[in-house]
Amino acid sequence: MAKQKVNKPLWNYHPELPLQMAPYWHWPMRPLMIIKWLWENFLQVSDRALYIAYALAIALWLMPFAGHEAVLSWQWAGWVLVRNLVAVLVVVGGLHYWFYGMDGQGNLLRFDARPITGRKSPRFKFNYQTWDNMYYTLVYGVPIASAWEVAARWGYANGWVGSISIGSEPIWFLLLFPILTLYQGVHFYFIHRLIHWPPAYRWVHSVHHRNINVGPWSGLSMHPVEHLLYFSSLLIFLLLPAHPVHILFLLHWQLLGAPSGHSGYEAVFAKDKRRLLIGGFFHQLHHRYFECNYGSPEFPLDRWFGTFHDGTSEMLKQVRERTQRMHSR
Ligand SMILES: [Zn+2]
Ligand SMILES: [Zn+2]
Repeated sequence: MAKQKVNKPLWNYHPELPLQMAPYWHWPMRPLMIIKWLWENFLQVSDRALYIAYALAIALWLMPFAGHEAVLSWQWAGWVLVRNLVAVLVVVGGLHYWFYGMDGQGNLLRFDARPITGRKSPRFKFNYQTWDNMYYTLVYGVPIASAWEVAARWGYANGWVGSISIGSEPIWFLLLFPILTLYQGVHFYFIHRLIHWPPAYRWVHSVHHRNINVGPWSGLSMHPVEHLLYFSSLLIFLLLPAHPVHILFLLHWQLLGAPSGHSGYEAVFAKDKRRLLIGGFFHQLHHRYFECNYGSPEFPLDRWFGTFHDGTSEMLKQVRERTQRMHSR
């Protein structure tokens, strides 16, 4: 079967190809497969399970949503910024140190074995990919994400965001976690297509795409306009009643999930075991081939709009032909 042919020399490692969409979309529907996927992605040690745990810790203990947040003030907003800065430095810095600093697992489960761009690269600020990516993440990304969190807390305290509790709607409360990651894939697809429109690409999105091979700090290395659009996903809570833990989960799924998803590795591997599932090959293909995989593997918009690249050489040919057509227009 020709479809099975893979771009072996192109990748140091890749998951099983052709890449599959999340099993919500397989037809005929296989409920057991969906349950297994939800189990592996939400309830095993995966990045998203950790972000749910962290969102719970913030909502219930570290910094619960509070009535006094109905009035905007630097006093509480400043702590939101500090907390997010610390989380990004620990998680993104930690992943970078493990993968690229101490070289914790070499090229094991690494998609692209080429080094991330080192010193003396004029494409990047400070001539160095890592410093450049840290600059865009810490100077623009974290403050803009924090501003969205502050807005959400302010809206919640003023009653503009509807609320639910686990006691009143337990099933809906749990279902909202996978629904939010599905929704985020849709939101990302459309803003991402928008910033691939050539004028917006040159002005905004080219900042992110200077990273051909990516590391954790590349995830939020974006032009501030892209940060604004990317975190605007939180506006959904003006329509969708939720608990603060859902708001915090969606925020961290993007604030920490973009960096973990750009790690360049499928999982953290230590002591002979996959310790932390990250994924990210779907988007790694976008960084290498550009005009494909704008969304996420959870919602099949790329398939419906004909921009899906499943990692096979047949599909790569189609992506290249489409790119050529686009550029010759
Ligand atoms: Zn990216
Ligand atoms: Zn892009």
